Amino acid sequence: MHMKTIGLIGGMSWESTAEYYRIVNQRVAERLGALHSARCLLYSFDFAEIEALQSAGEWKTATQRMIETAQTLARAGADLLLICTNTMHLMANDVQAAVDVPLLHIADATARYIRAAGISRVGLLGTRLTMERDFYVGRFTRHGLTITLPDDAGRRIVHDVIYNELCRGEINDASRDAYRRIIGQLVAEGCEGITLGCTEIGLLIKQADSPVPIFDTTVIHAEAAVEAACDEHAYANLRARQEH
Ligand code: GLU
Repeated sequence: MHMKTIGLIGGMSWESTAEYYRIVNQRVAERLGALHSARCLLYSFDFAEIEALQSAGEWKTATQRMIETAQTLARAGADLLLICTNTMHLMANDVQAAVDVPLLHIADATARYIRAAGISRVGLLGTRLTMERDFYVGRFTRHGLTITLPDDAGRRIVHDVIYNELCRGEINDASRDAYRRIIGQLVAEGCEGITLGCTEIGLLIKQADSPVPIFDTTVIHAEAAVEAACDEHAYANLRARQEH
């Protein structure tokens, strides 16, 4: 089949978008061989602009920016769209409603992957919005997963490290230790897996940092995109789910 074009709405932050770009290209080469690489279109935001809208609570403008970008990529030929951040899935339903091409939702891809691994109770690490608002946790719950969050102090650390370090390309051992402690607490509370529900966390935390399986949303999302781009059946399934 003709490989589909993946539209990436990125730059939130570019540190994780670079991972998306690497992963989609590597997975296509693994599937199709040799010199093959992903057909893709990337729109990369100036993250300072997005972060300013987030902290000012300017959700209408932020939603508008996401919609315009999705439409731009669809017009340019994207066959499917990815929002390359968990947090900005806050407006995923509005974005999907504004375009004809399917949006591959990061929480759906991740939740399905976790269920397929036979796990039902997972800890979630992400930005405050991702951890505390229903747009994300509710989506996991609908897939039959039970989510456990870090306590308030833990959530503050996880959130601050994302914006003050990871989105600026800073990887610190002290922050990794703090994350490891938080993961340890979640496991002590009964979590069988840990969702890295922010696309930069995989830059800091690897499987060796957790006694239970980690589920990196960046990797899972990018791999699901390649599956949809290269497999007619997977693309048809994504299209069929578009309304939901
Ligand atoms: N990339 C992060 C995420 O996956 C946070 C950056 C943002 O606020 O979009 O949630």
